[in-house]
Amino acid sequence: SLPVFVAARQIAIDNPEHIAIIDVSKGQSFTYTQLLENAAALSKLIIETLGSASTGDLNEQRVAFLCPAGYDYVATSWAVWSAGGVCVPLCTSHPVKELLYTIHDSDPSLVIIHPTFEKIAPELRKAVSLHVPFMGLDPFTRNDNPSLPSFCASFPLDRRALMIYTSGTTSNPKGCVTTHENITFQASCLVKAWDYRRSDHLIHVLPLHHVHGIINGLAACLLSGASVEMHPKFDPKVIWQRWQHCETSTMFMAVPTIYSRLNDYFDAHIRGTDDEQGARAGAQTLRLVVSGSAALPTPIKAKFAEITGQILLERYGMTEIGMALSCGLKPEERIDGSVGWPLPGVQVRLTEKDTGRIIDGPNEDGMIEVRGRNVFREYWRRPDATANEFTGDGWFKTGDCALRDSNGAYYIQGRASVDIIKSGGYKISALQVERAMLALAQVQEVAVVGLKDEEWGERVAAIVRFREGAELDLPSLRTELKKELAAYKVPTVMKRVDTIARNAMGKVNKKLLVQEYWPTHA
Ligand code: ATP
Ligand code: MG
Repeated sequence: SLPVFVAARQIAIDNPEHIAIIDVSKGQSFTYTQLLENAAALSKLIIETLGSASTGDLNEQRVAFLCPAGYDYVATSWAVWSAGGVCVPLCTSHPVKELLYTIHDSDPSLVIIHPTFEKIAPELRKAVSLHVPFMGLDPFTRNDNPSLPSFCASFPLDRRALMIYTSGTTSNPKGCVTTHENITFQASCLVKAWDYRRSDHLIHVLPLHHVHGIINGLAACLLSGASVEMHPKFDPKVIWQRWQHCETSTMFMAVPTIYSRLNDYFDAHIRGTDDEQGARAGAQTLRLVVSGSAALPTPIKAKFAEITGQILLERYGMTEIGMALSCGLKPEERIDGSVGWPLPGVQVRLTEKDTGRIIDGPNEDGMIEVRGRNVFREYWRRPDATANEFTGDGWFKTGDCALRDSNGAYYIQGRASVDIIKSGGYKISALQVERAMLALAQVQEVAVVGLKDEEWGERVAAIVRFREGAELDLPSLRTELKKELAAYKVPTVMKRVDTIARNAMGKVNKKLLVQEYWPTHA
């Protein structure tokens, strides 16, 4: 296996005109050849800026960059990699304070700011040590290296390549370092499982500071010679239109919140109009539509299937390991509530939380542990945190809890730290309660949390956004839920809200929610 920017050379040789990136903001398409040439030119400039010209190698120095989702982002990351550096992609929706957290923590040798973000550059500049050079992206306007570069085919795969910060759902974001070997493997096991091809065309709407957008979207596509249509942000109207009018489009990947917004937009603006049949038909021809990063509520999946005929393929992964579990391409391998089976080459097992005993049989819950070439190298400058997350025999402890059925399919129960609620001697999966609540017609969105309680240890509480015009008081909600759930799982506390805060990946921070609504029970 070769890193994506090395493998791309063959694609460019086979077909110099083959499109790598369609940049929606620029209104322009770029071939693999152009991408390689621009990356090589920028790479040279980075090396010169950092005074590494004599060796031509950044030797794993970090380069942080703030780039909108588009061609420049991809060219910049390939430039950093081919220069021997480590990419630290910054989040375009982060306020300055959070950008500075990432910059300070990753300690880069260079910060690249795309012209789109020129306004905040001085503010970032002021807060970062004077020794760290900042760079714009002028090299894209002049190309002083027009021939196809031959990036070293023997590129050392064990080099650090990428530093992605975890979502920060459970604690401060940690810089998660992966090598070229890790990310190439993460991408290629998806390529095998989901059968990416040169003829594929992905409509890409995800942020590019998480594995979902970087590995599943960009890396796996570009490793297969597919074309990626990059949207600077998600807009449901634009996506429905693209599905309808772009005949080549074959793939889409998103988080559950995005599918929920697509469903809502269809109901509000497309259903019953002249566009209805066209919109449905446009989505029907997609080859693969994937959901992940957070649990997919069954009503969202069912509604999307009603509109488009597409059964969303759910998968499970995290920053540290890329993807580990996935449902299959065959419709019968997409089971409601399940994230499927281990990906090729990824080892997955369940262990009992307190004893570490390996769980062999079906239908017993345990902690997910993962081993394989996909697993990250380290948390940046946090050797203790890294050591803590591995077992003695090298398995990574995800902190997520799951069940496995008799066919080997996995069902995520949630994070042990926030989603497994311990009440009166019972263990309750917040995700299971959420699933039951979402099945009620009145409930639009919900987060189930545990509240510290002297008598019960924890009590089950629900933060609920009801559908417009439909509400339930707590006693009626409980009566409804007891038809579906054992009584001890039914929430005894409820908070009605207008919105449930989610981050760019559609994730809810439950610790913050409890602190906000029930500070004395946090
Ligand atoms: P932090 O580690 O900083 O607390 P985070 O764990 O949310 O943040 P990510 O690595 O982006 O950061 O998210 C991985 C987590 O997302 C997994 O550990 C799991 O809890 C959750 N997750 C991912 N896919 C799914 C899925 N299909 N169903 C349920 N949960 C999922
Ligand atoms: Mg995590």
